[in-house]
Amino acid sequence: MQYEEILHRCFRCGYCKLPENYVDFNCPPYLSFRFETYSPGGRMWLIRALLDNKLAPTGRLQEILFSCVACANCVTHCTFPKFKDQLLLAFTAAKEQLVNGGKVPPAVRDCLTRIYQHGNPYGHARKKRDAWTDGLKVEPYSDQEYLFFVGDVGSYDTRGQEIARSVAGLLQKLGVSFGILGADEISDGNEAGAMGEAELFKYLAEENIKTFESRGVEKIITLSPHGYNAFKNDYPGFGGNYSVLHYSQVLAPLVKKAAFAPDQPPLRVTYHDSCYLGRHNMEYGAPRTVLTALPGVELVEMQRCFQNALCCGGGGGNVFTDIIGSGRQTSAGVRVGEAAASGAGVLAVACPQCAVMFADAVKVQNLEGRLAVKEISEIVNERLIKQEVN
Ligand code: SF4
Ligand code: SF4
Repeated sequence: MQYEEILHRCFRCGYCKLPENYVDFNCPPYLSFRFETYSPGGRMWLIRALLDNKLAPTGRLQEILFSCVACANCVTHCTFPKFKDQLLLAFTAAKEQLVNGGKVPPAVRDCLTRIYQHGNPYGHARKKRDAWTDGLKVEPYSDQEYLFFVGDVGSYDTRGQEIARSVAGLLQKLGVSFGILGADEISDGNEAGAMGEAELFKYLAEENIKTFESRGVEKIITLSPHGYNAFKNDYPGFGGNYSVLHYSQVLAPLVKKAAFAPDQPPLRVTYHDSCYLGRHNMEYGAPRTVLTALPGVELVEMQRCFQNALCCGGGGGNVFTDIIGSGRQTSAGVRVGEAAASGAGVLAVACPQCAVMFADAVKVQNLEGRLAVKEISEIVNERLIKQEVN
């Protein structure tokens, strides 16, 4: 179905911006701006008016359409089953139309240009792609069982690099055989695709597939749920068929058998479902299995969890473009407040993008000292019996 054909079918009922209890606002741009045009139903109006040439692609319209963070809450909660699966495709197609017409916000243009020129949204050198391995001996991929695909945030962002080191170190301690591509890795393209740059996504997918084929890659572990989504759902369309796992799915069975230090202090943890693990790929169990296997850890759920989780606001490229902007009413800000209200001292994540978004939000919400944001392997590493690797 072409996306133009579904726009008129929307009832404008507005349920798509809510979780299933209808109490909170679960669409991040609507949560921040509170104008109906930022909601999924409002977007449908705007896109239809754009297609009918009743609205010009002004800078304001571009900002609204690119503020969608691709969280898929609307896909999950739209009341019209006949087209709910098409919603996000329609929003992405509208972005694609703006991209093709050169009508995009400057932050989006610059981000896409950096990905095209440098293979990553930061514009950093490709040869520094393995800088995250500092202090850890990680082999280039050759004949190991898995390729560990680190992704852009894990490769270049300071917090992302810490997480990449923690996950890789834990995989080593648990005996997983893996190697990395280093400077031969480029963006998985998930965010370029979500920003409507279909041609750039195609280019990145084809380049990565060429690299995977030349190295004989069959099994991939991703650090990022975003890369997991692209490899699992989109790369097969370009001939790239691999066995793809998010690292939490590798850890879940192994952590159950790991040896933990005795007398662990109690720790109350709440887990934030990444949209690209949860709503996009229905993986809610693996990260929780890891956490509940840890002695001393009590897992408590936030008010919004599983398919009702509130997005961190970093998807759709927003972690790089900051189209939604910062402040107390961002979804990341509301989410860390919700985590603190759960009584947990730790907000656990399984996505480097979520970790980056929440690190800022904890400061903005004055929750430092009350709520720590930790990635799940960091919590495991703290509790494992100390052992040297390499
Ligand atoms: S995908 Fe998320 S951010 Fe985009 S319109 Fe739907 S609920 Fe809002
Ligand atoms: S829930 Fe579905 S039908 Fe209702 S406004 Fe949202 S997109 Fe339209």
